[in-house]
Amino acid sequence: MNKKSGKAEEFVTEITLRSEDFSRWYLDVVRRAELADYSPVKGCMVIRPYGYAIWELIQQTLDREIKRTGHVNAYFPLFIPNSLLTKEAEHVEGFAPQVAYVTHGGGEELEEKLVVRPTSEAIIGTMYAKWVQSWRDLPILLNQWANVVRWEKVTRPFLRTTEFLWQEGHTAHETADEAEEETRKILDLYASVCESLLAMPVVKGMKSESEKFAGALRTYSIEALMGDGRALQAGTSHNLGQNFAKAFDITFQARDKSVQHVWGTSWGVTTRLVGAVIMTHGDDSGLVLPPAVAPYQVVVVPIGRENWRETVLPRALEIKNELVNAGIRVTLDDRDERPGWKFSEWELRGVPLRLEIGPKDIEKSQVLLARRDTREKAGVAMDGLAEHIKGLLDTIQRNLFDRALAFRESRTQRVATWDEFKQVMEGRPGFVIAGWCGSAECEALIKGETQATIRNMPLDAPPATGSCIRCDQPAVAEAWFAKSY
Ligand SMILES: [Zn+2]
Repeated sequence: MNKKSGKAEEFVTEITLRSEDFSRWYLDVVRRAELADYSPVKGCMVIRPYGYAIWELIQQTLDREIKRTGHVNAYFPLFIPNSLLTKEAEHVEGFAPQVAYVTHGGGEELEEKLVVRPTSEAIIGTMYAKWVQSWRDLPILLNQWANVVRWEKVTRPFLRTTEFLWQEGHTAHETADEAEEETRKILDLYASVCESLLAMPVVKGMKSESEKFAGALRTYSIEALMGDGRALQAGTSHNLGQNFAKAFDITFQARDKSVQHVWGTSWGVTTRLVGAVIMTHGDDSGLVLPPAVAPYQVVVVPIGRENWRETVLPRALEIKNELVNAGIRVTLDDRDERPGWKFSEWELRGVPLRLEIGPKDIEKSQVLLARRDTREKAGVAMDGLAEHIKGLLDTIQRNLFDRALAFRESRTQRVATWDEFKQVMEGRPGFVIAGWCGSAECEALIKGETQATIRNMPLDAPPATGSCIRCDQPAVAEAWFAKSY
C-alpha cells in the first residue's frame, strides 16, 4: 500500500500515513501543507494563504454561478438583536446551544444583548418585511459572503470550527412552487460545482425531519464520501415555507389583492469544502488537489549541478512565464534545496503537475512532467507545452473525479436485513442504502446502535419498496445511511 516505502529514508514527509490513521493524517496535512493553523482563540482557526487560495477559487466559481442564476450580493450586520433571533421558535431552539452573545459595548452593559450571527435568517427576514409590499417586489434573490459563529465543543480545522466563512443565500417568493424550484435549483448548482470544480461526486437528496435546518419546511443536502468512508454534508438548501415570513411578518399584496406571506429559501456552503477536498483526494504523501482548485497547477523545478542558476534557471523562468501567459497557475521553486526535497515538498502540497527541467532537457528541447495523481512521468516537447499541459490538467481533473466515484461505488451497499446493516457498519464504512419507515424513533435507534445517521434520501431514487430496516413497517423511502463528520 505504501507507495513511498522505497524512498522513505530519503524524503522525510513528517506526516502520518493516511492508511494508518486518517484523522491524524488530516491534521498533519492541514499543518504541513500550510493550509491552516490553530489560533489563540479556542475553536477558531487561522486560514493560511495556501488554504485561503483554495477557498478563493471555490468562492470565485460559486459567486459566478450564484450571479448567473439571477442572484445579487448584499451584506447584513454581524450582530443580531436577541429579540429577533427568538421570533421563530424552532429556529431559536435549534441554535440556542451554539449562540455567542455580546453583552457589553463601549464600556457599558447593553440594554439588549446581541447575538453574533450563527446564520442570518432573522436579520434578513426583518429587512425583507420592510422591503416587500407588493407581488411586484418579488422575488428577492440575495446572497451574502460572510463569517458566522457557532460555538463548538469539539473542533477540527475546516470541518468544524467556531467561526467559519460561508455564503448564505436568502430568497423570498410569491408562491410555494417558486420557493421549491429555487431550493432545488441551488442544490443542483452546489452539486455541479462540487463535481466539476472539486472533482467530488455528491448525492443529492432530502434530509429527514430530525436532520433538517431549524425552522425550515424541508432541507436538501449534497453528501460526499470521504477517503475513510465517512460521509460529509457538503452543502444544504432549505425550503423555509412561510415559517420565517410568519415569524418576521413578511407580507405582500398578491395579484388578487389579498395579503399573503412570502415563501422563503436559504442555502449555504462553507469553508468546510476545503476539508472535503483534502479528505476526498489526499493520499499517504499528502494533499492531492484537483487542478481547478489548485493555487498552483504546475510547479517548475530546475534540475542541475552547482551552476544551475546560470544554466537552467533562465530557461525555467521563460517556461514559467509562457505558462502564466497561457492562463495556467504556476510557481517556480528556485530555492537552494535539493530537487528531491522540493519534489516531496510539492507532492505534500498537492500540486497536480511537476515540471522538471535540466541541462539535458534544454539540449533536447523538452521537459519532464510528473503527475501527482498517478505519479506517471513523461518527457514532453517544449514546443506546444502550454496546450499539452492544459490537456493534461483536464485529464487529471477527470481522473480524480472518476477515482472518487469508483471509491464511493465500492463503498456503497444496499442491505435487506438489520443484521446485515450492523455488519456493514461495523466493517468497512461507507454508504448503506436501506428502507426506512419514516419514524424518528427508528432513526434514533439506528444511530444509537451503529452511529450511522440518514445522510439523505436521494431525489432520483425509485419509490421505496419493502420494509424498514429497523422495524419491519413498510418503508416510505430509501435512505442513504453513513457515519458522518
Ligand atoms: Zn422503522
